[in-house]
Amino acid sequence: MMSDVLLNIDGLSVDYETARGDLKALRDISFDIQKGEIIGIVGESGCGKSTLISSILRLTAPNTRFRQGEIQFKGDDILKLSEKQMRNLRGADISIVFQDPMQSHNPVLSIGQQMLDIQHRIKLSKAEKLKRAAGMLGAVGIPDPEARLKQFPHEFSGGMRQRIAIAMALMSEPDLLIADEPTTALDATLEVQIIERLKELQEEFHCAILFISHHLGVIAELCDRVVVMYAGAVVEKGDVREIFHNPRHPYTRRLIECDPGHIKERARELPTIPGEVPDLIDVPKGCIFKDRCDQAMTKCAEETPALVTLKDGHKAACWLNHEEAEK
Ligand code: SF4
Repeated sequence: MMSDVLLNIDGLSVDYETARGDLKALRDISFDIQKGEIIGIVGESGCGKSTLISSILRLTAPNTRFRQGEIQFKGDDILKLSEKQMRNLRGADISIVFQDPMQSHNPVLSIGQQMLDIQHRIKLSKAEKLKRAAGMLGAVGIPDPEARLKQFPHEFSGGMRQRIAIAMALMSEPDLLIADEPTTALDATLEVQIIERLKELQEEFHCAILFISHHLGVIAELCDRVVVMYAGAVVEKGDVREIFHNPRHPYTRRLIECDPGHIKERARELPTIPGEVPDLIDVPKGCIFKDRCDQAMTKCAEETPALVTLKDGHKAACWLNHEEAEK
């Protein structure tokens, strides 16, 4: 039987070598993505989301060291592929949409020219490629797409540019679309539109989506499962509805309380979780969240809680859950 697992990250630990010592950016990360599934990764800045994306694409800084673990994509370990194999993978089997759509567009080339360039591997005439590009712009909701192919990135609004970035990412019909905070720079109305369009496109193109955000509400709208990361480790993961309605890690609870969609009263500033992410050069012993946790116990300072299964794939790394964890 063919496996439905598209991406399987197993025990991944990644360090950055620095003058002060090794910064342990990712520690023992494991999760998978099934074909056609939408997975959300949520966490504050510094939780390891960017290192995770650059590791999957193998576009890491020179001081990166893959200490252990595997990143299996369609059965191949990405960490063992040649640079040529990786180039073939990026932009073909795996595409990415960035937070800032200007990162995806060349300001001096028309959108049409950029969408032609993306199709350099496809054996079609120029006219056929332009027709395909116009069709994709139409699919992401750009009106009058044939005419707009002649325009340049600065002639579009931020929301339109993000739609174009999604269209470009889908041109290669990837198996995996990585969406790196694609709605963070947009206002709430545009955010909802982009999320709805992504959902429709996923149904149409059947690609899996790895959706990165610090906004749990957006993840809950779009994703099937969620992985909550804190300070380079997975602290909770499982079905998105289960985690949203029944969070079992204090960090996830605080993320939900701080989520803009959850705040009922008007406030000048959004609430944040007090305290800072610990120094990952000198990772403290015990629970990684203990200095910011309002439920910390003596044991939390001494021993690191393992990620244990609670029910139906819902896992959390917190001592509060260990007694009821499935054996
Ligand atoms: Fe808080 Fe302890 Fe749970 Fe860590 S293990 S999240 S410190 S209660």
